[in-house]
Amino acid sequence: MEMYKYYNQNFDKDDMYFWLCQMARQFDSAVVVINPAKDNVIDFVNHVFMRMTEYSESELIGEKLNILHGPLTDVLNELAIQECIENGLSYKTSSFHYRKNGSVFWNEVTILPLKDLNGVLQYCLLMMNDVTDAMNVETLVELEKTVFFRLENGDSIDNVLGEICDHVKRTFRKPCNCTILLLNDHKKVENIYGDLSTTLKESDYQAFFIGSENREFASSFNKHATFIKNIKTTNYYEQYQSFFDGENIESFWSHPIFNKEEEIIGLLSIYSEQEMDPQATDYKLINNIAPIITLAVNYFNQKKAIHSLAFFDSATGLSNFEGFKNTIMNLWEVNKEEGYVYIVEPGEYQKIVDLYGRQGGDKILKKIADRLRNFFPLTELHMARYTNSSIIIATKLKISDLQLSQVEIDQLLFEPYCINNKDVFVTLKIGTSKVCPETPINQAIPQADTALSIALKSVGTVIKKFEVEQVESVANEMNVVANIAKGLRKGEFVPMLQPKVDIQTGEIESFEALARWISPELGFVSPALFIPVAENTGNIYKIDLAIFKKVLEWQKLRKDAGLPMYQVSVNISPIHFYSPTFVENTIGFIRKYEIEPKYIKFEITESIELDNVMRAKKIINDLMKYGVATAIDDFGVGYSSLSYLQELPFEEIKIDKSFVDNLANPRMNAVIKTIIHLSRNLNMRSVAEGIETEAQHKELQQLGCDCGQGYYYYKPMPLREVDELLQECPAVL
Ligand code: C2E
Ligand code: CA
Ligand code: CA
Repeated sequence: MEMYKYYNQNFDKDDMYFWLCQMARQFDSAVVVINPAKDNVIDFVNHVFMRMTEYSESELIGEKLNILHGPLTDVLNELAIQECIENGLSYKTSSFHYRKNGSVFWNEVTILPLKDLNGVLQYCLLMMNDVTDAMNVETLVELEKTVFFRLENGDSIDNVLGEICDHVKRTFRKPCNCTILLLNDHKKVENIYGDLSTTLKESDYQAFFIGSENREFASSFNKHATFIKNIKTTNYYEQYQSFFDGENIESFWSHPIFNKEEEIIGLLSIYSEQEMDPQATDYKLINNIAPIITLAVNYFNQKKAIHSLAFFDSATGLSNFEGFKNTIMNLWEVNKEEGYVYIVEPGEYQKIVDLYGRQGGDKILKKIADRLRNFFPLTELHMARYTNSSIIIATKLKISDLQLSQVEIDQLLFEPYCINNKDVFVTLKIGTSKVCPETPINQAIPQADTALSIALKSVGTVIKKFEVEQVESVANEMNVVANIAKGLRKGEFVPMLQPKVDIQTGEIESFEALARWISPELGFVSPALFIPVAENTGNIYKIDLAIFKKVLEWQKLRKDAGLPMYQVSVNISPIHFYSPTFVENTIGFIRKYEIEPKYIKFEITESIELDNVMRAKKIINDLMKYGVATAIDDFGVGYSSLSYLQELPFEEIKIDKSFVDNLANPRMNAVIKTIIHLSRNLNMRSVAEGIETEAQHKELQQLGCDCGQGYYYYKPMPLREVDELLQECPAVL
């Protein structure tokens, strides 16, 4: 009680005011004293407050707090402050306040009401702190959190970068617009987020990068950013006037976005209709937002890379099958759309792998894909690697819809591909099937696959549509494996002979033995079907030898009957050719049947790997020493192998049917000419295979080819028919 009296007597309102001011002068916070008795006007300010607001004492005393308000100030919050002052309540808040020069700061305001002993409000003490930095940090932390959350939840890059732009607009101290531009690998603007994201014209992209080439508008705080207070005072204005005027842009700030390698991958820009003078806090803000954008972009790029690993084939850069199926299901099945799938395989894939390794195989697929891409409208083509040796395409277009000219078709199908700087000719085997609601993609793909397996057995470039009967034929193939061994035991593999004629005279000069399998279970089975199966199951040398023996038997019969003798070429699979006992075995048979070695020739398909050149050379030489000649078969795919051909003493070179088919194509024609000339230089005979027309015959004759083989002259025929034919024709050998 005594104390209270003392206080009451000795510490009146004036004293209180005096001590308040004394105290406030010592504070390092800004302090304002408000006098309720004088209609709540400012009664006292300390120096810190004057420094913070840039007003002088005389400009402040007698004013109300609204001297600090501006367009972005939150009106409701200011009313709350006002109410607390009037009613003597304590309160703490943050406000967007304006300095005398119009710049903005986040002001943390603490209201301390001072009452006398009767509870009557005497003064209000307002302590204030510029917390712009802290606020920015806080909102940045908030933004970072939002961005992380959105990324985690699989939000799109559009949403995430859009949110960053919104955030800048919401928290920036002046009304502004915000745009983020991202560049692609070629440094071209690829995506736009935030303001103008849907309306910005390509012709105006460059306007965003003003000032970033030379650093004239950079600040010492921020060497990367550009700050243009008033665009109209710069010479950029003239250059991009229509854009700046159209968007009403007066000040323009930007900050490049860098990747880890410090390359520019984009740009953050903040622009306003008003003049904006950057302050220290702005530099900081922009400096801090840019890395958040980098983070988000990196995250998406990484995600894309992971997605790529899961859905792309890194060897060819094509989508992989999973990715392809997903896309088509999402795009087509959902919308019940119809279209076609095509599975495309180069017929020579294996040969290319033999010659150029796996990478050669990848390269040819990639090149075929690139070429196909040229002929389809981009949006109409979905393409992926299907198997090691094939690509798959889905499109709503029929090939006929493409309306390709003959020249384009020739380009698409017959132009050689360049692999390791060598020209490589391939034939395309294509299987196709229709996708529709009744046959969804999951069914259409195996159908196209079935059609492809039929196409693979055909000669030249072919496209096969799926037909139900094909399923049967593929099922047959399954039986093939089981039946080959049995067929071999029962002697079901027999040779047919196809005459080879002297192109200049048309006379039969020799034959090629072609295997036929006449199976009681499977019927007549094509060698195109059983040879690959036999190769894969290790039975091929048995087939080769079975045919070889029957050929020797036939020749022995002719010899014993005193009939004219002809040379017969026997096909030998490469696996067999390289087996250690090949030379010994075959020479053994020739001896056994007492046939002169010159009547036998071995044809080996040109899949000789370079590593094997030395071995091949030895085998060919051993055979040659004994008097048996060798031919290189299906010469074409490895046209490039001309380079090692001179190392190998083949006696004959057989030009593949795919070349003969395309004699009319000038490039192909030139290649054949070269092969013929080269073989002559190397002392090899040139044989053209698969001649079907008189025109082809004439052309090859003209090109100086030695020998021809094909339906134009004779089809392969059974031994008995050959004997009959030879009775009519005079012998040459
Ligand atoms: P290849 O050695 O290139 O035989 C030429 C193929 O072309 C034969 O097919 C022949 O019948 C066919 N042909 C010949 N002239 C024409 C023509 O004018 N037009 C058309 N469209 N085709 C023609 P085939 O008999 O179906 O043999 C296919 C392949 O199977 C052979 O191609 C050969 O690589 C392989 N082959 C055949 N017999 C044997 C064998 O006993 N052992 C091994 N390892 N492979 C064999
Ligand atoms: Ca052959
Ligand atoms: Ca051939």
